[in-house]
Amino acid sequence: MHASAALNRIKPSATLAITTRVQEMQRAGVDVIGLGAGEPDFDTPDFIKEAGIKAIRDGRTKYTNVDGTPELKEAVRLKFRRDNALDYALDQITINAGGKHTLFNAMAATLDPGDEVIVPAPYWVSYPDVVLYAGGTPVFVRAGADQGYKLKPDQLEAAITPRTRWLILNSPSNPTGAAYGEAELKALGAVLERYPHVWIFADDMYEHIVFDDFHFTTIAQVCPSLHDRTLTANGCSKAYAMTGWRIGFAGGARWLIKAMAKLQSQSTSNPCSIAQAAGVVALTADQAFLKDHAALFQRRRDLVVSMLNQATGITCPRPEGAFYVYPEFSALIGKTTPGGKTIATDEDFIAYLLDDARVAAVQGAAFGLSPAMRISYATADDLLRTACERIQTACGALR
Ligand code: PLP
Repeated sequence: MHASAALNRIKPSATLAITTRVQEMQRAGVDVIGLGAGEPDFDTPDFIKEAGIKAIRDGRTKYTNVDGTPELKEAVRLKFRRDNALDYALDQITINAGGKHTLFNAMAATLDPGDEVIVPAPYWVSYPDVVLYAGGTPVFVRAGADQGYKLKPDQLEAAITPRTRWLILNSPSNPTGAAYGEAELKALGAVLERYPHVWIFADDMYEHIVFDDFHFTTIAQVCPSLHDRTLTANGCSKAYAMTGWRIGFAGGARWLIKAMAKLQSQSTSNPCSIAQAAGVVALTADQAFLKDHAALFQRRRDLVVSMLNQATGITCPRPEGAFYVYPEFSALIGKTTPGGKTIATDEDFIAYLLDDARVAAVQGAAFGLSPAMRISYATADDLLRTACERIQTACGALR
Protein backbone atom coordinates (compact mmCIF):
# COMPACT_ATOMS: atom_id res chain seq x y z
CA MET A 1 0.00 0.00 0.00
CA HIS A 2 1.17 3.53 -0.70
CA ALA A 3 -0.23 7.05 -0.69
CA SER A 4 -2.11 7.95 -3.85
CA ALA A 5 -0.76 10.30 -6.51
CA ALA A 6 -3.57 12.73 -5.66
CA LEU A 7 -2.56 12.74 -2.00
CA ASN A 8 1.08 13.26 -2.90
CA ARG A 9 0.14 16.42 -4.77
CA ILE A 10 -0.91 18.19 -1.56
CA LYS A 11 0.67 19.21 1.74
CA PRO A 12 -0.80 19.47 5.24
CA SER A 13 -2.32 22.82 6.20
CA ALA A 14 0.50 25.13 7.41
CA THR A 15 -1.84 27.08 9.65
CA LEU A 16 -3.13 23.98 11.45
CA ALA A 17 0.50 22.84 11.86
CA ILE A 18 1.42 26.09 13.65
CA THR A 19 -1.59 25.79 15.97
CA THR A 20 -0.54 22.24 16.89
CA ARG A 21 3.06 23.36 17.52
CA VAL A 22 1.90 26.18 19.82
CA GLN A 23 -0.32 23.79 21.79
CA GLU A 24 2.64 21.42 22.23
CA MET A 25 4.89 24.25 23.45
CA GLN A 26 2.22 25.52 25.85
CA ARG A 27 1.72 22.01 27.24
CA ALA A 28 5.47 21.87 27.83
CA GLY A 29 5.17 25.06 29.92
CA VAL A 30 6.62 27.50 27.37
CA ASP A 31 5.13 31.02 27.51
CA VAL A 32 4.37 31.29 23.81
CA ILE A 33 1.65 33.54 22.31
CA GLY A 34 -0.09 31.94 19.37
CA LEU A 35 -1.13 34.32 16.61
CA GLY A 36 -1.60 31.55 14.08
CA ALA A 37 -5.15 30.38 14.64
CA GLY A 38 -7.87 31.26 12.16
CA GLU A 39 -10.83 31.34 14.51
CA PRO A 40 -12.55 33.81 16.83
CA ASP A 41 -11.23 33.55 20.40
CA PHE A 42 -14.70 33.84 21.92
CA ASP A 43 -17.23 31.09 22.39
CA THR A 44 -20.30 30.27 20.28
CA PRO A 45 -23.14 32.54 21.55
CA ASP A 46 -25.28 30.84 24.22
CA PHE A 47 -28.52 30.99 22.26
CA ILE A 48 -26.90 29.01 19.45
CA LYS A 49 -25.49 26.45 21.89
CA GLU A 50 -28.96 26.09 23.41
CA ALA A 51 -30.38 25.38 19.95
CA GLY A 52 -27.86 22.55 19.59
CA ILE A 53 -28.75 21.12 22.99
CA LYS A 54 -32.46 21.35 22.17
CA ALA A 55 -31.87 19.54 18.88
CA ILE A 56 -30.26 16.65 20.75
CA ARG A 57 -33.11 16.55 23.29
CA ASP A 58 -35.68 16.66 20.48
CA GLY A 59 -34.05 13.64 18.87
CA ARG A 60 -32.78 15.47 15.81
CA THR A 61 -29.92 13.05 15.79
CA LYS A 62 -30.58 11.08 12.61
CA TYR A 63 -29.45 11.33 9.01
CA THR A 64 -30.81 14.38 7.21
CA ASN A 65 -31.10 15.16 3.51
CA VAL A 66 -27.65 14.68 2.00
CA ASP A 67 -26.93 18.34 1.35
CA GLY A 68 -28.88 19.89 4.19
CA THR A 69 -32.23 20.04 5.95
CA PRO A 70 -35.02 22.03 4.30
CA GLU A 71 -35.08 24.23 7.43
CA LEU A 72 -31.43 25.19 7.10
CA LYS A 73 -31.71 25.71 3.35
CA GLU A 74 -34.66 28.01 4.02
CA ALA A 75 -32.58 29.92 6.59
CA VAL A 76 -29.73 30.24 4.06
CA ARG A 77 -32.20 31.45 1.43
CA LEU A 78 -33.37 34.16 3.86
CA LYS A 79 -29.76 35.03 4.70
CA PHE A 80 -28.80 35.49 1.05
CA ARG A 81 -31.86 37.69 0.50
CA ARG A 82 -31.41 39.72 3.67
CA ASP A 83 -27.65 40.27 3.52
CA ASN A 84 -26.82 40.02 -0.18
CA ALA A 85 -30.02 40.74 -2.13
CA LEU A 86 -29.50 37.36 -3.82
CA ASP A 87 -32.38 35.09 -4.70
CA TYR A 88 -31.64 31.37 -4.62
CA ALA A 89 -34.31 28.68 -4.72
CA LEU A 90 -33.91 25.84 -2.22
CA ASP A 91 -32.50 23.55 -4.93
CA GLN A 92 -29.82 26.16 -5.61
CA ILE A 93 -28.50 25.89 -2.06
CA THR A 94 -26.09 23.34 -0.61
CA ILE A 95 -25.12 22.77 3.02
CA ASN A 96 -21.71 21.26 3.71
CA ALA A 97 -19.53 20.30 6.66
CA GLY A 98 -17.77 23.68 6.80
CA GLY A 99 -16.63 26.16 4.20
CA LYS A 100 -13.63 24.03 3.30
CA HIS A 101 -15.99 21.23 2.37
CA THR A 102 -17.93 23.59 0.09
CA LEU A 103 -14.70 24.42 -1.71
CA PHE A 104 -13.71 20.77 -1.89
CA ASN A 105 -17.06 19.70 -3.32
CA ALA A 106 -17.10 22.48 -5.90
CA MET A 107 -13.58 21.79 -7.16
CA ALA A 108 -13.82 18.00 -7.06
CA ALA A 109 -17.17 18.09 -8.85
CA THR A 110 -15.97 20.25 -11.73
CA LEU A 111 -12.23 19.93 -12.41
CA ASP A 112 -10.51 17.63 -14.88
CA PRO A 113 -6.75 17.30 -15.41
CA GLY A 114 -5.41 20.42 -17.12
CA ASP A 115 -8.25 22.65 -15.92
CA GLU A 116 -6.99 25.91 -14.47
CA VAL A 117 -8.17 27.83 -11.42
CA ILE A 118 -7.04 31.43 -10.96
CA VAL A 119 -5.93 32.00 -7.38
CA PRO A 120 -4.85 35.54 -6.43
CA ALA A 121 -1.84 35.45 -4.07
CA PRO A 122 -1.60 35.73 -1.16
CA TYR A 123 -4.31 33.10 -0.80
CA TRP A 124 -6.00 31.01 1.86
CA VAL A 125 -3.79 27.93 2.23
CA SER A 126 -6.47 25.46 1.16
CA TYR A 127 -7.22 26.86 -2.31
CA PRO A 128 -4.16 25.48 -4.16
CA ASP A 129 -4.19 22.13 -2.42
CA VAL A 130 -7.88 21.47 -2.94
CA VAL A 131 -7.51 22.41 -6.61
CA LEU A 132 -4.46 20.13 -6.95
CA TYR A 133 -6.18 17.23 -5.18
CA ALA A 134 -9.14 17.60 -7.53
CA GLY A 135 -6.75 17.31 -10.49
CA GLY A 136 -6.74 20.96 -11.51
CA THR A 137 -3.89 23.44 -11.84
CA PRO A 138 -3.82 26.57 -9.68
CA VAL A 139 -2.71 29.66 -11.61
CA PHE A 140 -1.33 32.21 -9.16
CA VAL A 141 -1.53 35.92 -9.73
CA ARG A 142 0.54 38.09 -7.43
CA ALA A 143 -1.50 40.79 -5.72
CA GLY A 144 0.93 42.45 -3.33
CA ALA A 145 0.67 45.15 -0.71
CA ASP A 146 1.38 47.79 -3.41
CA GLN A 147 -2.06 47.02 -4.88
CA GLY A 148 -3.83 46.57 -1.55
CA TYR A 149 -3.54 42.77 -1.87
CA LYS A 150 -6.30 42.87 -4.49
CA LEU A 151 -6.39 41.41 -7.99
CA LYS A 152 -6.51 44.02 -10.76
CA PRO A 153 -8.70 43.65 -13.84
CA ASP A 154 -5.76 43.60 -16.29
CA GLN A 155 -4.04 40.90 -14.23
CA LEU A 156 -7.22 38.84 -14.29
CA GLU A 157 -7.54 39.20 -18.03
CA ALA A 158 -3.92 38.18 -18.57
CA ALA A 159 -4.38 35.04 -16.46
CA ILE A 160 -7.46 33.74 -18.28
CA THR A 161 -6.86 30.96 -20.84
CA PRO A 162 -9.23 28.61 -22.67
CA ARG A 163 -8.56 26.11 -19.83
CA THR A 164 -9.64 28.48 -17.03
CA ARG A 165 -12.58 27.00 -15.15
CA TRP A 166 -12.75 29.11 -11.99
CA LEU A 167 -11.61 32.38 -10.47
CA ILE A 168 -11.43 32.19 -6.68
CA LEU A 169 -12.33 35.52 -5.13
CA ASN A 170 -12.09 35.80 -1.35
CA SER A 171 -13.27 39.00 0.29
CA PRO A 172 -12.55 39.91 3.06
CA SER A 173 -9.42 37.85 2.61
CA ASN A 174 -7.67 35.28 4.65
CA PRO A 175 -4.68 35.98 4.99
CA THR A 176 -4.63 39.76 4.30
CA GLY A 177 -7.98 41.10 5.50
CA ALA A 178 -8.28 43.02 2.21
CA ALA A 179 -11.84 43.38 0.93
CA TYR A 180 -13.09 44.38 -2.53
CA GLY A 181 -15.38 47.38 -2.73
CA GLU A 182 -18.33 47.42 -5.10
CA ALA A 183 -16.48 49.35 -7.82
CA GLU A 184 -13.55 46.93 -7.65
CA LEU A 185 -15.88 43.95 -8.01
CA LYS A 186 -17.61 45.59 -10.95
CA ALA A 187 -14.27 46.21 -12.68
CA LEU A 188 -13.35 42.52 -12.31
CA GLY A 189 -16.88 41.63 -13.42
CA ALA A 190 -16.46 43.64 -16.61
CA VAL A 191 -13.51 41.39 -17.55
CA LEU A 192 -15.36 38.20 -16.59
CA GLU A 193 -18.33 39.18 -18.75
CA ARG A 194 -16.04 38.76 -21.77
CA TYR A 195 -15.12 35.18 -20.77
CA PRO A 196 -18.32 33.20 -20.29
CA HIS A 197 -16.43 29.94 -19.70
CA VAL A 198 -14.97 31.25 -16.42
CA TRP A 199 -16.92 30.61 -13.21
CA ILE A 200 -16.47 32.48 -9.96
CA PHE A 201 -16.06 30.91 -6.54
CA ALA A 202 -16.92 33.83 -4.25
CA ASP A 203 -15.69 33.01 -0.76
CA ASP A 204 -17.53 35.37 1.58
CA MET A 205 -16.67 33.58 4.81
CA TYR A 206 -15.63 36.84 6.54
CA GLU A 207 -18.57 38.91 5.24
CA HIS A 208 -19.66 40.11 8.67
CA ILE A 209 -16.21 41.09 9.92
CA VAL A 210 -15.69 44.45 8.17
CA PHE A 211 -14.51 47.75 9.60
CA ASP A 212 -14.99 51.51 9.52
CA ASP A 213 -17.58 52.32 6.89
CA PHE A 214 -16.69 49.48 4.51
CA HIS A 215 -19.84 48.21 2.80
CA PHE A 216 -19.69 44.49 2.00
CA THR A 217 -21.02 43.32 -1.35
CA THR A 218 -20.53 40.09 -3.27
CA ILE A 219 -19.92 39.67 -6.99
CA ALA A 220 -23.19 37.91 -7.91
CA GLN A 221 -25.03 40.81 -6.31
CA VAL A 222 -23.21 43.68 -8.01
CA CYS A 223 -22.71 41.92 -11.37
CA PRO A 224 -26.09 40.29 -12.07
CA SER A 225 -24.83 39.04 -15.44
CA LEU A 226 -22.43 36.76 -13.54
CA HIS A 227 -25.06 35.43 -11.12
CA ASP A 228 -25.60 32.17 -13.03
CA ARG A 229 -21.92 31.26 -13.04
CA THR A 230 -21.04 32.31 -9.52
CA LEU A 231 -21.00 30.00 -6.54
CA THR A 232 -21.57 32.28 -3.55
CA ALA A 233 -19.97 30.47 -0.62
CA ASN A 234 -20.24 31.34 3.04
CA GLY A 235 -20.69 29.64 6.39
CA CYS A 236 -21.31 29.86 10.11
CA SER A 237 -17.71 29.33 11.22
CA LYS A 238 -16.30 32.83 11.57
CA ALA A 239 -19.32 35.12 11.96
CA TYR A 240 -20.99 33.02 14.67
CA ALA A 241 -17.81 31.61 16.26
CA MET A 242 -18.92 28.13 15.19
CA THR A 243 -15.69 26.74 13.73
CA GLY A 244 -16.10 23.39 15.45
CA TRP A 245 -19.73 22.88 14.42
CA ARG A 246 -18.82 22.54 10.73
CA ILE A 247 -21.52 24.35 8.76
CA GLY A 248 -20.69 25.84 5.36
CA PHE A 249 -23.14 26.70 2.62
CA ALA A 250 -23.37 28.06 -0.89
CA GLY A 251 -25.82 29.24 -3.51
CA GLY A 252 -25.38 28.63 -7.22
CA ALA A 253 -26.50 26.97 -10.41
CA ARG A 254 -28.83 23.99 -10.03
CA TRP A 255 -26.65 21.51 -11.91
CA LEU A 256 -23.61 22.46 -9.85
CA ILE A 257 -25.49 22.18 -6.55
CA LYS A 258 -26.75 18.77 -7.69
CA ALA A 259 -23.26 17.66 -8.71
CA MET A 260 -21.89 18.70 -5.32
CA ALA A 261 -24.69 16.78 -3.57
CA LYS A 262 -23.86 13.68 -5.61
CA LEU A 263 -20.26 13.83 -4.38
CA GLN A 264 -21.40 14.50 -0.82
CA SER A 265 -23.77 11.50 -0.98
CA GLN A 266 -20.76 9.23 -1.53
CA SER A 267 -18.37 10.94 0.88
CA THR A 268 -19.51 12.64 4.08
CA SER A 269 -23.32 12.44 3.63
CA ASN A 270 -25.15 15.15 5.55
CA PRO A 271 -23.42 17.70 7.78
CA CYS A 272 -24.05 17.05 11.52
CA SER A 273 -27.81 17.18 12.15
CA ILE A 274 -27.36 19.00 15.47
CA ALA A 275 -25.08 21.63 13.98
CA GLN A 276 -27.58 22.19 11.19
CA ALA A 277 -30.37 22.85 13.72
CA ALA A 278 -28.10 25.34 15.52
CA GLY A 279 -27.23 26.92 12.17
CA VAL A 280 -30.92 27.71 11.53
CA VAL A 281 -31.06 29.66 14.79
CA ALA A 282 -27.75 31.45 14.11
CA LEU A 283 -28.83 32.62 10.66
CA THR A 284 -32.38 33.64 11.53
CA ALA A 285 -31.78 35.34 14.90
CA ASP A 286 -31.44 39.08 15.34
CA GLN A 287 -28.04 39.69 13.71
CA ALA A 288 -27.21 42.84 15.67
CA PHE A 289 -24.54 41.09 17.76
CA LEU A 290 -22.41 40.60 14.64
CA LYS A 291 -21.68 44.33 14.67
CA ASP A 292 -20.39 44.03 18.24
CA HIS A 293 -18.00 41.27 17.17
CA ALA A 294 -16.80 43.39 14.25
CA ALA A 295 -16.27 46.40 16.56
CA LEU A 296 -14.15 44.25 18.87
CA PHE A 297 -12.02 43.05 15.97
CA GLN A 298 -11.69 46.59 14.62
CA ARG A 299 -10.24 47.76 17.93
CA ARG A 300 -7.73 44.93 17.84
CA ARG A 301 -6.86 45.64 14.22
CA ASP A 302 -6.06 49.23 15.14
CA LEU A 303 -3.88 48.12 18.03
CA VAL A 304 -1.94 45.55 16.00
CA VAL A 305 -1.48 47.72 12.88
CA SER A 306 -0.20 50.60 14.98
CA MET A 307 2.19 48.51 17.07
CA LEU A 308 3.56 46.48 14.16
CA ASN A 309 4.26 49.61 12.14
CA GLN A 310 6.43 50.75 15.06
CA ALA A 311 8.60 47.62 14.73
CA THR A 312 11.84 48.21 12.79
CA GLY A 313 11.64 46.80 9.28
CA ILE A 314 7.94 45.85 9.32
CA THR A 315 5.29 47.49 7.15
CA CYS A 316 1.73 46.59 8.06
CA PRO A 317 -1.14 47.62 5.76
CA ARG A 318 -4.49 48.41 7.38
CA PRO A 319 -7.08 45.83 6.28
CA GLU A 320 -10.79 46.36 5.70
CA GLY A 321 -11.94 43.13 7.34
CA ALA A 322 -11.46 39.58 8.69
CA PHE A 323 -9.15 39.18 11.70
CA TYR A 324 -5.74 39.00 10.07
CA VAL A 325 -2.99 41.40 9.14
CA TYR A 326 -0.34 40.57 6.57
CA PRO A 327 2.74 42.68 7.32
CA GLU A 328 5.70 42.51 4.96
CA PHE A 329 9.33 42.76 6.06
CA SER A 330 11.69 42.77 3.07
CA ALA A 331 13.86 45.21 5.06
CA LEU A 332 14.69 42.41 7.52
CA ILE A 333 15.89 39.87 4.96
CA GLY A 334 19.68 39.47 5.20
CA LYS A 335 19.83 40.61 8.85
CA THR A 336 21.44 38.53 11.61
CA THR A 337 19.80 37.41 14.86
CA PRO A 338 21.52 37.83 18.29
CA GLY A 339 22.19 34.07 18.08
CA GLY A 340 24.12 34.56 14.82
CA LYS A 341 21.55 33.17 12.38
CA THR A 342 20.87 34.91 9.09
CA ILE A 343 17.26 35.76 8.20
CA ALA A 344 17.16 34.60 4.58
CA THR A 345 13.44 33.83 4.23
CA ASP A 346 10.18 34.54 6.00
CA GLU A 347 10.36 31.00 7.41
CA ASP A 348 13.63 32.01 9.12
CA PHE A 349 11.98 35.09 10.58
CA ILE A 350 9.00 33.06 11.86
CA ALA A 351 11.39 30.54 13.45
CA TYR A 352 13.30 33.42 15.09
CA LEU A 353 10.04 34.90 16.44
CA LEU A 354 9.01 31.54 17.84
CA ASP A 355 12.37 30.66 19.40
CA ASP A 356 13.49 34.07 20.67
CA ALA A 357 10.31 36.13 21.07
CA ARG A 358 7.91 33.27 21.87
CA VAL A 359 5.38 34.52 19.34
CA ALA A 360 3.86 32.21 16.74
CA ALA A 361 2.81 33.71 13.41
CA VAL A 362 2.61 32.00 10.00
CA GLN A 363 5.17 32.57 7.25
CA GLY A 364 3.99 34.30 4.08
CA ALA A 365 5.42 31.42 2.04
CA ALA A 366 2.41 29.34 3.13
CA PHE A 367 0.10 31.89 1.48
CA GLY A 368 2.14 32.39 -1.66
CA LEU A 369 3.60 35.85 -1.04
CA SER A 370 6.91 36.50 0.72
CA PRO A 371 8.61 37.96 2.69
CA ALA A 372 5.62 38.50 4.93
CA MET A 373 3.66 36.84 7.70
CA ARG A 374 0.07 36.36 8.68
CA ILE A 375 -0.90 37.46 12.15
CA SER A 376 -4.31 36.53 13.48
CA TYR A 377 -5.55 39.05 16.03
CA ALA A 378 -8.42 36.89 17.23
CA THR A 379 -6.76 36.92 20.65
CA ALA A 380 -7.26 38.86 23.89
CA ASP A 381 -6.07 42.50 23.80
CA ASP A 382 -3.42 42.10 26.52
CA LEU A 383 -1.89 39.09 24.77
CA LEU A 384 -1.87 41.00 21.49
CA ARG A 385 -0.13 43.94 23.12
CA THR A 386 2.50 41.68 24.69
CA ALA A 387 3.00 39.80 21.41
CA CYS A 388 3.51 43.04 19.46
CA GLU A 389 5.98 44.31 22.10
CA ARG A 390 7.91 41.06 21.76
CA ILE A 391 7.95 41.43 17.96
CA GLN A 392 9.18 45.04 18.31
CA THR A 393 11.99 43.89 20.61
CA ALA A 394 12.92 41.00 18.31
CA CYS A 395 13.04 43.27 15.24
CA GLY A 396 15.12 45.82 17.15
CA ALA A 397 17.66 43.11 18.07
CA LEU A 398 18.41 42.18 14.46
CA ARG A 399 21.67 43.47 12.99
N1 PLP B 1 -12.76 30.39 3.49
C1 PLP B 1 -11.80 31.09 4.08
C2 PLP B 1 -11.25 32.28 3.41
C3 PLP B 1 -11.29 30.69 5.33
O1 PLP B 1 -10.33 31.39 5.92
C4 PLP B 1 -11.83 29.54 5.93
C5 PLP B 1 -11.28 29.05 7.21
O2 PLP B 1 -10.20 29.36 7.62
C6 PLP B 1 -12.84 28.85 5.26
C7 PLP B 1 -13.28 29.30 4.04
C8 PLP B 1 -13.44 27.58 5.78
O3 PLP B 1 -13.96 27.62 7.01
P1 PLP B 1 -14.55 26.33 7.68
O4 PLP B 1 -14.20 25.14 6.86
O5 PLP B 1 -13.92 26.27 9.02
O6 PLP B 1 -16.02 26.56 7.74
